[in-house]
Amino acid sequence: MQKILSLKDIDLKELERRVAAYDKKADFDLIKKSFEFAQDCHKGQKRKNGDCYFMHPFAASLILADMEMDAKTISAGLLHDVLENCDVTEKQIEQLFGSEVAMLVSGVTKLGEIDFDKIEASDELKDDPKRLKKIESLRKLFLAMAKDVRVVLIKLADRHHNMETLDALKVEDQKRISNETLEIYAPLADRLGMGRFKADLEDLAFKYIYPKEYLKIVQRTKKIFHAKEKYLNEMRNLLNLLLEGEDLNPVIEGRAKHLYSIYKKLKKDNDIEKIYDLMAIRIIVPEKSDCYKTLGIIHSNFKPLIYRIKDYIAVPKPNGYQSLHTTVFGLEGKITEIQIRTEKMHEEAEKGVSAHWHYDESKTQKGYAEHKASFAPKAKTRWINELMDWNKAAHSTEEFIEGLKIDIFKDRIFAFSPKGDVFDLPDGSTPIDFAYAVHTFIGDHMVGARVNSKMISMDHVLADRDIVEIIIKKNSPGPKRDWLKYAVTSRARGRIRAHLNKTE
Ligand code: MN
Repeated sequence: MQKILSLKDIDLKELERRVAAYDKKADFDLIKKSFEFAQDCHKGQKRKNGDCYFMHPFAASLILADMEMDAKTISAGLLHDVLENCDVTEKQIEQLFGSEVAMLVSGVTKLGEIDFDKIEASDELKDDPKRLKKIESLRKLFLAMAKDVRVVLIKLADRHHNMETLDALKVEDQKRISNETLEIYAPLADRLGMGRFKADLEDLAFKYIYPKEYLKIVQRTKKIFHAKEKYLNEMRNLLNLLLEGEDLNPVIEGRAKHLYSIYKKLKKDNDIEKIYDLMAIRIIVPEKSDCYKTLGIIHSNFKPLIYRIKDYIAVPKPNGYQSLHTTVFGLEGKITEIQIRTEKMHEEAEKGVSAHWHYDESKTQKGYAEHKASFAPKAKTRWINELMDWNKAAHSTEEFIEGLKIDIFKDRIFAFSPKGDVFDLPDGSTPIDFAYAVHTFIGDHMVGARVNSKMISMDHVLADRDIVEIIIKKNSPGPKRDWLKYAVTSRARGRIRAHLNKTE
């Protein structure tokens, strides 16, 4: 993303140019009107770093244009701070820009009001009322998200620019805002499948939260990246030769792992040599079948590490990520990770929900106009809906918060049914969680389970990629109170409790 450096960079033409690059028929009148209105509203206002205030909403709108959002979202991005900072009402926005833009702007403003401003940074997760309040705000964030995912995308763009301009703030504010970014916004971007955005946010936050470690990683990786780059270039040339004449038109590029994820890996194992995907080669080809063809050519030339071949095309990650991954012994036997995907998969991996948004909107212009509020594609928002569902059943805020913490912020594993259906579960899940993830009926009638064909006990903790087979009996006595000790997902726990309440 291009940074905006000075006042002269505030240029409507630049915004129009970026929007026109993906949508020539966008409503440019709306964008111009919003630009002029917001610029006028913020006249004379300054940001903490001395910049003219309008630079911020303008920067956010550029980020939204990079996400290829529709004109109404761009407009709302430009207007996103006028309700809070200027003497403007929602009614006025509605009259001037229509009800949809007004809904988006007020949605973002409401999220801003609960923007955790007075909450101190704290590493203590439990029993801290401030902390709980902060996470309670999350609940509203999620609800807003399910109502219209564009509100969240505007909020993410807003946060991205705020992170870029964090230098002007006091150290404790920098830490607090960065913590929020790491704990709330980056996981959100991840769950929406926006890989590049998430990585950006994490690295921006990493620098402020752990400045020493950040510097260390930068220094440590510098040399390695340099050496690897040379090697990857050689490898790339060789791959180009191998794939030449196969009619694949491959685009071969290198990609470096982002700093925060290197930091996390090194915390588990300090041996940087063991991070095989520190730098990877990415091959982009036109068709899905070309991906497999390319993989075949690579494997017939370089021996793969069998356990590291991953087919996320046949079995996408729950956030929609698709790609083939393989790790091979490359030139001079050097271990090299290669990712293969189509252009469309690539765009989705980088942009997630926002990439979808663009496709879907252009396809269903009519349906969209009729429905007003927009939803991200079903598969991507399934977890949001589940969460809301559960929220209705939750008795108290604390219970909801407890569920949120476990469901969203723990690491995830992917477990499979014997038929190959994939289930996204939090780390620490047991067969009970799996059973209820499949269906309430399955959970309620479960009498045992096999993992990778072996009988296991109910408290068995599932590992990533396990194949789980639930054994049910029609006349089973139903869930036992004990199960609450083993189930970690809010869904399973809620259903078990509901069952116990009925029977006890
Ligand atoms: Mn803002």
